[in-house]
Amino acid sequence: MSHTSPTTVLVVEDEPAIAQAIVHRLSAEGWRVEAAPDGPSGVAAAARLEPDVIVLDVMLPGIDGLEVCRIIQAERPVPVLMLTARDDETDMLIGLGVGADDYMTKPFSMRELVARTKALLRRTERAAKAAELAVAAAPEPALTVGDVVIDHAQRRVHRNGVEIHLTPTEFDLLGALAATPRTVLTRERLLEQVWDWVDASGTRTVDSHVKALRRKLGPDLIRTVHGVGYAFEPADPPRS
Ligand code: CA
Repeated sequence: MSHTSPTTVLVVEDEPAIAQAIVHRLSAEGWRVEAAPDGPSGVAAAARLEPDVIVLDVMLPGIDGLEVCRIIQAERPVPVLMLTARDDETDMLIGLGVGADDYMTKPFSMRELVARTKALLRRTERAAKAAELAVAAAPEPALTVGDVVIDHAQRRVHRNGVEIHLTPTEFDLLGALAATPRTVLTRERLLEQVWDWVDASGTRTVDSHVKALRRKLGPDLIRTVHGVGYAFEPADPPRS
């Protein structure tokens, strides 16, 4: 994020009433906000504006939100908050590894939209600072937990020597869990640590991302502690 220009937000949403309400509310934060009414114009606006964050509806005319997200992210990494119609649609999209950083199910409150957008901006700023520090200092050695190797400097993960491709959010979630193996972390704590915001309505996002991690890493690494949260449980190293 540049310090000389205002925070820029792109809203890609085809329902005029919703688009107007979002633009109105986010502009009140002092941000520069522009709206695009369909997929192709959303892609074009992202290239032109280079926004700091994108609020992206899934069901769009022209190109749908999934494809818009893929095209935009391939051009230039930018945090994406995706708007979905149903909770199970959110689960499905996270499962597909679409690469959005957060999801909100319609209808949502404008207060929640602002909170989540701010959290995304904080995460991006924090990641940029961490990257600057990593360049300045000696690279952090890769963390080995059981048969999982997590390289924070390169943001790569291997299990049993095989590279596992994770979305940025999945990587951050795995990093948070693996930092304290065999320790139960509550959904609320994970939400705060990884997404940088706290609201009970967001815990479903945590559940969906854990599901996605299990699909990629195998079902045995992350234990559910019913009603509490999750724990990273690596296999014991082979005895010598
Ligand atoms: Ca729509």
